[in-house]
Amino acid sequence: MRERLDNEKSGNESFVKRVFKEYYSKWYGEPPKNYNMREYAFIISRKGDMIRHKAFESWDEVREFLRKNVPLHGFYSSAYYLQPSAPDMDAKGWIGADLIFDIDVDHIHTPCKDVHDKWVCLDCGVVDKGMPPEVCHRCSSKRIEAKTWFCEKCLDVAREETIKLVEDYLIQDFGFSPKEVSIVFSGRRGFHVHVESDIVKGLDQRARREIVDYVKGVGLTLTSKKRKVLLPPLNAGGWHGRIAKGVYELLNSCQVDDLIRLLGLKRGPQIEENVREIIKRLEEGKRCSTLSGMASKIWLKAVEKAIAYKRCEVDERVTTDIKRLIRLPGTLHGGTGLIVMRIGLKDVETFDPYTHAVAFKRDYVKVRVLNMPKITFLGQEWGPYDNEVVEVPLGLAVYLICSDNAIVIDEVL
Ligand SMILES: [Zn+2]
Ligand SMILES: [Zn+2]
Repeated sequence: MRERLDNEKSGNESFVKRVFKEYYSKWYGEPPKNYNMREYAFIISRKGDMIRHKAFESWDEVREFLRKNVPLHGFYSSAYYLQPSAPDMDAKGWIGADLIFDIDVDHIHTPCKDVHDKWVCLDCGVVDKGMPPEVCHRCSSKRIEAKTWFCEKCLDVAREETIKLVEDYLIQDFGFSPKEVSIVFSGRRGFHVHVESDIVKGLDQRARREIVDYVKGVGLTLTSKKRKVLLPPLNAGGWHGRIAKGVYELLNSCQVDDLIRLLGLKRGPQIEENVREIIKRLEEGKRCSTLSGMASKIWLKAVEKAIAYKRCEVDERVTTDIKRLIRLPGTLHGGTGLIVMRIGLKDVETFDPYTHAVAFKRDYVKVRVLNMPKITFLGQEWGPYDNEVVEVPLGLAVYLICSDNAIVIDEVL
């Protein structure tokens, strides 16, 4: 049994190597800004360690390296260095770094995960559905293996967070030009947003932490003087206007009964009247409009909801790290076989990874699918499969094999 499993695994590995090789044989890629001042890192095989501290003088060398070595994963540094190939981080001579944001559904709770995600504790064997916990709830082990999928609903959440981050925060609040901001599909369950600008280059960890806090709405406190609250106008800048708009949208989109439930209010005769009053005041947009009594109570509760809705769910560890290795756009993600690809802001809304990021669109392959929920791939519905031999498009086969959900049987190439 063990031998069979090993054979199957090595069959899978050589299959993946072969299709990846095909991909990199025609690869041109698009160099990141100042590509020769960056550190590159690769993971060549599943059991292999990460090869770090690579640097390239010309983009052709990068292409050559990929063609020759066919890595499963490729990364480059957000940082610019004087000596990017120096093996010691201190000897690299840090010059600056791009500002990077990571929006990953792994870290965002979506209700659909209770349907399509599973995890298993490698120590006690407990299996459960939904988001994997930090530690096993039975034995407290941290050795948890998750089986995750990226459904249409997860994709919607990731897209929405990305558009919000770029349009509302980076462009509107911080004033970056759209040219300085690029969006990259991470190859799995989210997007990376890169800001390449001289203004951010020199920012230290503390400054980047402040940016993260701003974007995540951390530390927003609501002060009310003499039980009166101040209403910002709808067109105010930054978080003031964002909160005003958020509350306005919330109050206008809900029936009063729903609002009472949502905000945890006690039903009272004046609620409807107060809600109308807040809407009216926001529409009038006076600079110093105040609320008191029940209206201020509704306002404060609605503000909490508005912050939760308007804040942006980014991974703070990525943004605050000034020497981060991030996936190199154009390379393949070894856990999915999908392309880590740049997307224009206007294309995020219609971006479909299971069509646009598929590297292998032709040919079919016979695989034994161990487990797969129903998914739409290359515009067609597939599955659900449970330990079945099926013929699927090469791109889907690669996806399933890379994510350990299938075993290659017979290649119909
Ligand atoms: Zn356990
Ligand atoms: Zn989902």
